[in-house]
Amino acid sequence: MLELRPNCECCDCDLPPDSAQARICSFECTFCATCTEQHLGGLCPNCGGELLVRPRRPVSKLASNPPSSERVYKPEGCAAR
Ligand SMILES: [Zn+2]
Ligand SMILES: [Zn+2]
Repeated sequence: MLELRPNCECCDCDLPPDSAQARICSFECTFCATCTEQHLGGLCPNCGGELLVRPRRPVSKLASNPPSSERVYKPEGCAAR
């Protein structure tokens, strides 16, 4: 099951579980659409993998399957590319 991390690793903007702006790699490094397109060229700066649209979890499932509240923020990895 996806963690559904709450923010972008690059700019620390909020990415709620129903956001259409969230992008993830296969390790679930999480970024917003703006950073993915403008800074990262569609690739994860941590692992080099593709960043794809994160599926949204239906609201009816969130109560029993809550998203992660642990923010991951690594702006240095984003500046390097
Ligand atoms: Zn971002
Ligand atoms: Zn990654």
